[in-house]
Amino acid sequence: MNNNVCPVCRGKLSVGVQAWHFTCHSCNYEKGDLEPVINEVSPHKLVNETVRETGLRDIRVGNFNKLLGVISALKPGGGKLVDVGCAHGWFVEAAMHKFESLGVEPDEVVFKATHARGLPVRKGYFPDTLKDGEMFDVIVFNDVIEHIPDIVKVLSECHSRLNSGGLLVLNLPSSDGIFYKIARAFCRIGKYSYFERLWQKGLPSPHVHYFNPKNLSDLLAKNRFTAVKSGTLPTLGLPGLYARISCAGNLGKLSTIVIYCAVACAIPVLRLLPSDIVYVVAEKD
Ligand SMILES: [Zn+2]
Repeated sequence: MNNNVCPVCRGKLSVGVQAWHFTCHSCNYEKGDLEPVINEVSPHKLVNETVRETGLRDIRVGNFNKLLGVISALKPGGGKLVDVGCAHGWFVEAAMHKFESLGVEPDEVVFKATHARGLPVRKGYFPDTLKDGEMFDVIVFNDVIEHIPDIVKVLSECHSRLNSGGLLVLNLPSSDGIFYKIARAFCRIGKYSYFERLWQKGLPSPHVHYFNPKNLSDLLAKNRFTAVKSGTLPTLGLPGLYARISCAGNLGKLSTIVIYCAVACAIPVLRLLPSDIVYVVAEKD
């Protein structure tokens, strides 16, 4: 991977808080030189997938419904939608009521489980798994674009697969988020584990990019998209919180309960601070 040039402003990237982490001092874009590892068995063992799925479902589905409300308001007539890296198919499931929907998922195990639920999903990568000339009105990336090394290429592919007036929807972590800022602050005192966890270092699919809303909309503008709507989505909610904490590490029962209570009490305050999840809806120029 080229770790020298910023994909947003073409500025020079410098080494950040660790040897694999790079930042652009011009636009604050951040890059991780962490190669994605898919369909290999060993990293999967690091995460208890079932517990993780339970913990994430409630907050994700809530956020997906909010995002769908935004997309539907911009595309009231519906149309064809593809969710890239659809995972368990939760977004596709919600979108099916309003759009002719398709999910694309490269992970064999996850694809099989989603397909078995009867959802419209195709195995493979975007756009390789699409048919010749297959076009869409909406292309969605939920927690996916930050995992793709050649983001400029994929934006170009989205542009050519969208109908006129088509929408690109990105839902991704933000470097302006309070949890990200805290994790970076911990690095200054030599505590790297939380920062590494946010980048998903050592997990099956680590993050490659961290954007903030400003440099993200600049990147889109340079790749022939105009941001028409953006906003934030909550990172934490009470439903599923216990399961998320209990799969975060080798915590004892008591520690899990104590952390759960502390985080649960902090949620109303955290909601007032910059969110770690942002979305942008951009129209094809
Ligand atoms: Zn830059």
